[in-house]
Amino acid sequence: MLNRRQFIGVVGMAAAWPAAGQRGSAIDEWGSPIFDLHFHMRGQVAANTAHLDGAGISAANLLTRAANSDQVRTLQTAVPGRFTWFCSADPSTPEGVRALTDGVKSGARGFGEMKYHLATDGPEFRRVYGLAAELRTPILIHFQEVDHFDKEGTWSPGFAASFERMLKAYPQTTFIGHADAFWANVSADYHNEAAYPSGPIVRGGVTDKLLADYPNLYGDLSANSGNNMLSRDPAFTAEFLRRHQDKLLFGSDCACADGRGSGVSQGNNPGAARLAGKCVARETLAVLKRSTSTGIFRKITWDNAHSLLKIPV
Ligand SMILES: [Zn+2]
Ligand SMILES: [Zn+2]
Repeated sequence: MLNRRQFIGVVGMAAAWPAAGQRGSAIDEWGSPIFDLHFHMRGQVAANTAHLDGAGISAANLLTRAANSDQVRTLQTAVPGRFTWFCSADPSTPEGVRALTDGVKSGARGFGEMKYHLATDGPEFRRVYGLAAELRTPILIHFQEVDHFDKEGTWSPGFAASFERMLKAYPQTTFIGHADAFWANVSADYHNEAAYPSGPIVRGGVTDKLLADYPNLYGDLSANSGNNMLSRDPAFTAEFLRRHQDKLLFGSDCACADGRGSGVSQGNNPGAARLAGKCVARETLAVLKRSTSTGIFRKITWDNAHSLLKIPV
């Protein structure tokens, strides 16, 4: 990780907010402007804008540690109007909880990505659900119960069994679900057999029901998990996007270098090999585009994020 001085050093070489012509072509590519909810901040300013420009994305929500608020501010100053951010910190320590509060006071619009080896309904996460309600900021959670790598361990385990109780217990908290367990549970036949199940979706899955029943739950379609779910069953996908058009948000979680698939897009996760050499942002925007109407596409890729994150348009 860069220290503050190194980071400011590279800002000097950064590309500025693209000229009007470039912004126009980014919008032309997908037919409307795109907002990426799930974009992990990169050390160099130019690396951040390279991914957005390459994938035809106008603006993005940076996910980063709460301690990096100075780097976020430097990036926002270098490239005005293009980046909002969410902050994360370990909720099992008092310092982490304090850092989350400080991040929001420094301008973060939410908590995320919250990816910790802590139970979905455990005391550490409960404390942060309460804090998110108090600060009126959404919380973005990574749910995963099948290892990508040997001895990886589970992240927010207990989604299918206990998350509904959290949605009930914290009605003032706005939750954004993401990752393997969240999207695999769209299908009713899922029981943690694989990180990325394939084949037609069995209607009536946990995630589908929770999105329908709880106004405080949203879904982040990023990563191989979101793309895989959208790619399994075209008839289901079209219907799912229509039913939850106000609750779904486009995100990439893509790590490729140029918004066109160079470098590594999904952290060399062997289970996500179907997206190797591809830009996840482009792949997911393409499946959304061919699966739904122009109006719903725009909600999922722009409008919903702006209202949820309270970003002026
Ligand atoms: Zn994640
Ligand atoms: Zn990419």
